[in-house]
Amino acid sequence: MSTKPPTYMLDHPEIRDSVTRLCEGFPGEYWRKNDREQDYPREFVDALTQAGFLSALIPEEFDGSGLPLSAGAAILEEVHRSGGNAGACHAQMYTMGTLLRHGSQSQKQQYLPAISCGELRLQAFGVTEPTSGTDTTALRTTARREGDHYVVNGQKIWTSRAQYSDLMILLCRTTPREQVEKKTDGLSVLLVDMREARGKTLTIRPIRTMMNHATTEIFFDDMRVPVDNLIGEEGRGFRYILSGMNTERILIASECIGDAKWFIEKATAYASERSVFGRPIGQNQGVQFPIARAYAQMRAAELVLREAIRLYDAGENPGEEANLAKMLAADASWASAEMCVQTYGGFGFAEEYDVERKFRETRLYQVAPISTNLILSYLGEHVLGLPRSY
Ligand SMILES: Cc1cc2nc3c(=O)[nH]c(=O)nc-3n(C[C@H](O)[C@H](O)[C@H](O)COP(=O)(O)OP(=O)(O)OC[C@H]3O[C@@H](n4cnc5c(N)ncnc54)[C@H](O)[C@@H]3O)c2cc1C
Repeated sequence: MSTKPPTYMLDHPEIRDSVTRLCEGFPGEYWRKNDREQDYPREFVDALTQAGFLSALIPEEFDGSGLPLSAGAAILEEVHRSGGNAGACHAQMYTMGTLLRHGSQSQKQQYLPAISCGELRLQAFGVTEPTSGTDTTALRTTARREGDHYVVNGQKIWTSRAQYSDLMILLCRTTPREQVEKKTDGLSVLLVDMREARGKTLTIRPIRTMMNHATTEIFFDDMRVPVDNLIGEEGRGFRYILSGMNTERILIASECIGDAKWFIEKATAYASERSVFGRPIGQNQGVQFPIARAYAQMRAAELVLREAIRLYDAGENPGEEANLAKMLAADASWASAEMCVQTYGGFGFAEEYDVERKFRETRLYQVAPISTNLILSYLGEHVLGLPRSY
């Protein structure tokens, strides 16, 4: 019986091949060790940076590769399909977009080439706060103008990779909510150089989580940020953050598709090899059908994702498709994870097979970077025109 995984018509085959080859240098043992110790996969992130994959979306004039989003999506999908996890570094691909789209020419000249070559890391994205949660405009971190600086006070939570980043894109309030007409006004984006402030006016505390994600909570105590580091116009930051959401949704959906493929390929191989009652377990339709169903679910999500990417790369604003792709891909990866554990039986729980690790990792996408409910709310209100609920 063939255990060869199905072949798909995929874009960027050369990029996919090189990512797969790079990932072969970081096998299951590497990820298991980091997972066990909740350690940051430095060597992997360095290798991706050196190979130029993390600067794929930065334009050539800033020393990146200037590739379309489809290339970034292919890179992240293959990392996940190979059994790895790009959560340690994926944010650079989308946070960089805030600087690229809304930053001044001098900010771009100053930071983007250094990010491209790996001299500076832009991995931290400070939006979520403990009290406001999903209700972003209720955030409480403030930046008060004092001469040529902003003075920042407040707290963020779930600021992933902050310990392994030099720069952070920070969303904070520059005008109190009571003084603005629309609650989305009065928020601003600062590009924070964390190197100076760390341990003084910026405190980073790691949060241990069910999977290895290097996430943290951070506290600002009169942290000074030069006014020159304001991205775009003061008070318009919420729009700038929103404008990057399609990119984020599409890239995360690609990781989910990569995870789903990994689970399906693992389960297919295992069900073909594992023999119980004198025959491969995959010969039983009770084992075979869940694998086929997970495959169907993954392919459907993948097709919607390809449509979202196609529209995005054609210069459109595919809010509906990007949201659909994120939700369907996250559902597909989670369904595949559940199927894979069941196919492996007891061995699905053993660390050495990586199934339980990937199972924990892929659970995140039902909650972050945006929860399934919030996507349904977007579809209900913005696509179907149902009454607003908040
Ligand atoms: C590992 C990890 C890494 C993260 N990394 C980052 C990061 O780097 N930067 C960053 O800024 N954030 C990050 N986040 C935060 C993430 O974006 C949020 O956890 C997510 O958006 C959900 O917000 P919340 O946790 O505050 O949940 P809450 O807003 O408290 O919501 C809790 C639950 O209630 C549901 N809910 C809330 N309101 C409604 C409603 N009106 N209708 C229906 N359901 C609703 C939500 O869907 C959710 O399931 C990370 C989170 C995790 C767990």
